[in-house]
Amino acid sequence: MPSIKILPDNLINKIAAGEVVERPASVVKELIENAIDAGATEIVVNIEQSGKRMIRVADNGSGISREDARTAFERHATSKISSESDLETIRTMGFRGEALSSIASVAQVTMVTAQKGAGPGTIIEIEGGTVRNIADAAAPQGTSLEVSHLFYNTPARLKFLKSAATELSHIIAAVSHQAMARPDIRFKLTHGKTVVLDLPSSSGIRDRAFQINGGELSDGLMEFTGGRDSVRVYGMVSKPNHDRGDRSYQEFYVNGRYVKNASLSHALYAAYTDLIMRDRHPAGFIFIDLDPALVDVNVHPAKAEVRFRNQSQIHDLVRDVIREALRAGGAPHFAAGADRVKDAVSDYLKSVECGVRSAEFDAEHSKTSFRSHNSDVSFSSESGSGSLSFDSHSALRTPHSALLYPLAQVHDSFIIAQSNDGMALIDQHAAHERVLFEKLQDQHAAGAVPVQNLLIPVQVEPGRAEQELLKEYLPELQKLGFVIEEFGGGSFIIKGVPALMTGGDYKQLLLDIVDELKVHGKSGKMDALRDEVLSVMACHPAIKVHRRLSQQEMEGLINDLFSCRMPHSCPHGRPTVVRFSMDEIKRMFKRI
Ligand code: ADP
Ligand code: MG
Repeated sequence: MPSIKILPDNLINKIAAGEVVERPASVVKELIENAIDAGATEIVVNIEQSGKRMIRVADNGSGISREDARTAFERHATSKISSESDLETIRTMGFRGEALSSIASVAQVTMVTAQKGAGPGTIIEIEGGTVRNIADAAAPQGTSLEVSHLFYNTPARLKFLKSAATELSHIIAAVSHQAMARPDIRFKLTHGKTVVLDLPSSSGIRDRAFQINGGELSDGLMEFTGGRDSVRVYGMVSKPNHDRGDRSYQEFYVNGRYVKNASLSHALYAAYTDLIMRDRHPAGFIFIDLDPALVDVNVHPAKAEVRFRNQSQIHDLVRDVIREALRAGGAPHFAAGADRVKDAVSDYLKSVECGVRSAEFDAEHSKTSFRSHNSDVSFSSESGSGSLSFDSHSALRTPHSALLYPLAQVHDSFIIAQSNDGMALIDQHAAHERVLFEKLQDQHAAGAVPVQNLLIPVQVEPGRAEQELLKEYLPELQKLGFVIEEFGGGSFIIKGVPALMTGGDYKQLLLDIVDELKVHGKSGKMDALRDEVLSVMACHPAIKVHRRLSQQEMEGLINDLFSCRMPHSCPHGRPTVVRFSMDEIKRMFKRI
């Protein structure tokens, strides 16, 4: 066994660089952080060949004294903390004292820096961790750090770099994240002769998001703010209906630091439960400001992750603040009318059944087998095409009734309604689903789901695997208002159903619920599944397309819809209402 040796500093730095400096974008990130910590109001980043050839970050911050300029490149050299207790109160971006020493060990570095009114500035040149030159330099206040030929002395790392386009995109992301965190600072990024980003200091995150991402994205975002005790949560998230096809634009900032945190990501999705479809994603720029003692930023060498002292409280707070804002937010507005609506309509028609197997009402059943004994349910079996169960008395004449007045129905599927400032299209099926969903939720939460006993029980014979699942969940289904018994030989008997479900195809309903349990029921936790199951249930008796509604029914539906907590989407996340303002309509006709 060879004897144990302490590694030379230069090698230690190279090893540390492996963690801190993964790619050119890491250098950009660290140097911008230093500039921010130095109080800069302007940060200019120039790169060549996607940062592989050269990265220069210049700031107008405090600058560094001659003496400190040399020390700054030593390992664990920092001006930001000096004792263990300081770790609890970190308000600076940096604190580990590793960036400059790591970068200098794997590149050629030239720093020019000057402090205000402190005589001549300093130029210092370092190569592979060795100081080559220190001299006077005439320079404006601030610091410019130029990093050339990154990884020139670590060929293995060099090989790991990706294509020029990929490295450039990482750099743009790094600058964007820092810029998003600090809208008050002016940022500029050039690549060769091209100006990639030029972001004048702006009044806030909305402006900054617009500067970086343009109108297309920011138009679909709504601002929110909230918090509890000393924790402030604010930012922008996608309006219901402006969800996205991928997870891009989900950014979290904790005390001004861009971080990755699985619990925060989860909280974002949790806020959108039943507002967006499963394969869709919300966008969000979410800022959390809190006492630094409540968050550990020292869990990752590149400070890319944080750990909250009370993770679950922060999770719930973020979820609740966003959800509250979504609830209060307006109905989706489709800015450039016609095409979007055409798409929405054809999408809708393609997927009318919400991914649940056909649940058209079984007219025969409803005529022969069931009679509603529940006065709450105005069930008209004779229509043979579905039950309309608006609690008109409870919901009618809320202030919302004034907001949208139904004028007509299109193809027996969509309601055209007039609003104060224009018009709206309402998807009658999605709207009714939302109404039923929340009623089912309320009944379940109150622990009193009215049950409709069936005169003629319905027999169901699920497959082998489904049988087990069904057995396991029987008690939970009972809480949801189902009366189901095992019948032996792998079959089950439905003897009663939630009263709101009266009139459906019960067998199909049960099989659909079992399907849902199969896909999402692995954990065996009904609580998390409740809404999933309720949304399957809500889809069943909901009014289908191609169902003529009377004026009174349309009014009842709109009233019920706007008495909901989340009126703007069905439980599967589809929009219920699409609005057009008069301005938008006039614009379509080129009147303005
Ligand atoms: P850290 O940021 O964790 O303190 P760094 O290695 O990034 O460690 O920087 C070391 C020190 O150099 C900093 O603590 C700071 O005092 C000084 N420094 C680095 N960059 C700048 C800059 N752009 N302006 C002023 N001081 C700087
Ligand atoms: Mg630093």
